[in-house]
Amino acid sequence: MYKFIFIIPIIINIALNTCARKEMKNLSSSDQSENMEKVYKTEEEWKQQLTPLQFHVTREKGTERPFTGRFNDFFEKGYYKCIGCGLVLFESDTKFHSGCGWPSFFDPAEMKNLKFHRDTSYGMIRSEVTCARCDAHLGHVFDDGPPPTGLRYCINSAALEFVQEE
Ligand SMILES: [Zn+2]
Repeated sequence: MYKFIFIIPIIINIALNTCARKEMKNLSSSDQSENMEKVYKTEEEWKQQLTPLQFHVTREKGTERPFTGRFNDFFEKGYYKCIGCGLVLFESDTKFHSGCGWPSFFDPAEMKNLKFHRDTSYGMIRSEVTCARCDAHLGHVFDDGPPPTGLRYCINSAALEFVQEE
């Protein structure tokens, strides 16, 4: 009887880990967004549309300082669009408090709206996340998130625009 009680959490843990690994594999080979109509703008056009911080983050792969972003400690009900092209990227239902200093989500609104790239800068192997439509740099995805996906999409506030739900 007691043995069973110990075994069950172990089984759940194995199932969750397997699930997360499968998801990460899917991410790196994601090509569902190939048919999406792209948004292209010149550097000048982006500079006119975006604030200097938004431009730095999304067009120069910058990172806002931790705990400074508008949506880091923000949990209103609604959805988050790309600051560059307005594509819906995340929903408030999947936002969680990670304590890492940037808005964190465990799942995108639609997988096809994101693109994933291997990023080896700063001596780390990370998975960079960009907008599938305008190629804006959004942040990175890590495999230490909560269930059900086990993923943490660590996204710059400066790359997002929030739309409140009525
Ligand atoms: Zn975009």
